[in-house]
Amino acid sequence: MKTILETLDSGTQWLEKKGVEDARRNMQLLLCHQLECSKIQLYTRFDEPLTDEALAPLREMLKRRGQREPLQHILGTVEFYLRDFYTDSRALIPRPETEELCEIVLKQLQPSAPKKVLDMGTGSGVIGLTLALEYGAQTQVTLADTSADALELAAKNTTALGVENTTSVRTNLFSEIQDQRYDLIVANLPYVPERDRASLAAELEYDPDLALFSGEDGLDIIREFIQKCPSHLEDGGCVALEIGIHQHQEVEQLLAAAGFTDINTLPDISGIYRFPTARWKTI
Ligand code: GLN
Repeated sequence: MKTILETLDSGTQWLEKKGVEDARRNMQLLLCHQLECSKIQLYTRFDEPLTDEALAPLREMLKRRGQREPLQHILGTVEFYLRDFYTDSRALIPRPETEELCEIVLKQLQPSAPKKVLDMGTGSGVIGLTLALEYGAQTQVTLADTSADALELAAKNTTALGVENTTSVRTNLFSEIQDQRYDLIVANLPYVPERDRASLAAELEYDPDLALFSGEDGLDIIREFIQKCPSHLEDGGCVALEIGIHQHQEVEQLLAAAGFTDINTLPDISGIYRFPTARWKTI
């Protein structure tokens, strides 16, 4: 029988051969998942033999990962802003940079609790639910998405986290929320350029197309969103977006053309200008 360490080594090599990045970390997390233990606990159990009972499902998970199914789908959950969220093929897998967007909103853009918040394109709900939990009961958050599948997943996360200050709406941008105004609108809309499709990592095939792509330059939906946004913001209300590399100058121009002020784009930890923010002032 192989020990846990031997299995970690052989699984890592196998994943490396399949072109999986961070193969060892992936293998560690699969082992932790199978053995229901933390990474630290795993280190203390290296000499333990793995039973056939544990090995069979592990082989199955390894096979899926080797076919480049994302680790997050295999594990079924992802940590976001220190909470566990369910993730699956119904919505985009939450990315670490989107945690940075939440941090910017909560620490810099809008530190005090706003009354009404909109998470446009909520997907699995990570942004809206994080804001609902961090701001607390005085804030009401609307989780909006065009995908019924995504809203189902967001509802599952809402229940699992016990969040009570949200409502959700199926809407194509603002089509079903015509008369509503918000103090804060946050949006991680699809922004991947269609022309980049062929060069993306294999794992991205498992994200819904609808959540990733938005026309040749990736900005089709964001253009429409920015144009419609002002009539859904209270005076002094803010907007915060996530965008892709090389898009911030054009997005800043779009925000300026729509009449926004205080336009500013903050970089992510890799230095990519990813988070445009702006304020709506009618006076
Ligand atoms: N950050 C994602 C990626 O490039 C895209 C997310 C999005 O389109 N909103 O993998």
